[in-house]
Amino acid sequence: MASQQSDDDIFVDSPTNKHHRFFPSSPKLITMKRDQESTFDTVTPLTRQMKSSSISASESGDNERTTPLRRRPSVLDEKALRETDTKTVRDQRIQAITRSYQGILDSIGEDSTRQGLLKTPKRAAEALVFFTKGYEQSIRDVVSDAIFDEDCENMVVVKEIDIYSLCEHHMVPFFGKVSVGYLPNKRVLGLSKIARIVEVFSRRLQVQERLTRQIAEAIAEAIEPRGVAVIVECQHMCMIMRGAQKVNSRTTTSAMLGVFREDPKTREEFLSLGGIKPF
Ligand SMILES: [Zn+2]
Repeated sequence: MASQQSDDDIFVDSPTNKHHRFFPSSPKLITMKRDQESTFDTVTPLTRQMKSSSISASESGDNERTTPLRRRPSVLDEKALRETDTKTVRDQRIQAITRSYQGILDSIGEDSTRQGLLKTPKRAAEALVFFTKGYEQSIRDVVSDAIFDEDCENMVVVKEIDIYSLCEHHMVPFFGKVSVGYLPNKRVLGLSKIARIVEVFSRRLQVQERLTRQIAEAIAEAIEPRGVAVIVECQHMCMIMRGAQKVNSRTTTSAMLGVFREDPKTREEFLSLGGIKPF
């Protein structure tokens, strides 16, 4: 058992590879590649995993080693948590959260019956349901009617999309901007849908690393482009308002899939089109 260290263990222990905890149970082939990666990249691309798998299988004929390469569950197939909510269920949720907020007010020592707070629990409950409305829609619904056949081979960049999310560790906001680029492969995505994908994933309890990866993978799965690049820069209120109180600190995460990972020129083009300074 002791000698059978999993990939999870390896990456969780390394701060620079912390993000790889989202990629459990990967085979050695990928592990070796990861070790050679620059710190610029934060996410292992789905497309590359798939590509590595096929290259190894055909070139080495060593199918045994590469068969364990498996994709994580499809982002497109994921059901949203509140997708099937009826109006009644939604009302029940708001009532339950309202009761909880009332308890929170009392628990912090406030008087939840004083005038200024009378309607606060209900208002806060409705606000929280809004802040998490990304649970109401699946990505498949968002992209399904917006995938178009197009011979375009030029890079598509949508930059500085505003995001407002809640950190899942403290349930306080983090917010900032997302820039997305992709290199089409005979299919494009309706431009507004990129912002919609960002919206759906960010209006959930999140960590910035996962949010970044999910945006990239949703686009990769939806239109199977030659590559996808996502850069997210956010300020986290849990860092600013408590603990470290690093008021001006920003957190930047990136996900580079396919050609954006493999080709520095493509990556540079994205960074310059997006007006993003390399870091
Ligand atoms: Zn936090």
